[in-house]
Amino acid sequence: MTELELMVDLHKYQARQGPGSTSDTLRALGLTGIDLEHHSPLVVADIGCGTGGQTRTLAQHLKGKIIAVDVFSEVLDRVNDASQSVDHQHKIETVQQSMDHLSFEAESLDLIWSEGAIYNMGFESGIKNWSRFLKPGGCLAVSELTWITQTRPREIETYWVNEYPEIDTSSRKIELLEQNGLTLSGYFYLPETSWMDHYYKPLEEGFSLFLDRHDHFDLAKKVVEDHREEIAMYRKYAAYFSYGFYVARKK
Ligand code: SAH
Repeated sequence: MTELELMVDLHKYQARQGPGSTSDTLRALGLTGIDLEHHSPLVVADIGCGTGGQTRTLAQHLKGKIIAVDVFSEVLDRVNDASQSVDHQHKIETVQQSMDHLSFEAESLDLIWSEGAIYNMGFESGIKNWSRFLKPGGCLAVSELTWITQTRPREIETYWVNEYPEIDTSSRKIELLEQNGLTLSGYFYLPETSWMDHYYKPLEEGFSLFLDRHDHFDLAKKVVEDHREEIAMYRKYAAYFSYGFYVARKK
């Protein structure tokens, strides 16, 4: 197995593949200004949906169709399995596609959702690419790794700049949204529980089964070590970064 295949195998059993929670999804949904009680059916894309934690929350609260997009069939299979057991199943449609080659029609979406995934193509390139799929007045809701202070210790700066060079402050991210025809409707950053309780702790609990599954193969050990390092960085430096949730409207 390649390192990427191992990563998918580590994550596909989890409820989430990144920091976040149902209450964060609902808080961001509140910032869109959509009247949840009285709105006409919407066409929504959930890009980089993973195993669909937030997809199901959106389906429970919105009328219309949710197109859940991910590049890996393993996670989309889990979205399909899980949605069969709930009555909003007809609303979720899965599409295996890369986020940098989406085949939506221009101005066809009311809402683009993407939690913890836009970094795969980069925030700037993601918003530049995706906003053309939004109808005028449509909303974009994305979570993105963000510095929450102006300065920070060198160790964490080096770590994240190396892992994700586009990491920046919320003011810079908001400027990028504005430069690309989007007006901010709201911003917040994820609380510690969304990292630890909903993402890192369940992931850590899966490490030993994952290693057993792969006979403690060196590459599997490396995948676990890399995740352990990331988690240690979060535990040490949670005061300096988080995922920012950005909700913005197209003019
Ligand atoms: N939104 C989910 C998953 C976040 S992890 C959650 O918050 O729990 C990032 C997701 O992006 C993964 O499911 C990964 O498979 C997907 N991904 C990575 N590269 C991608 C690409 N090029 N196109 C579409 N999805 C991609």
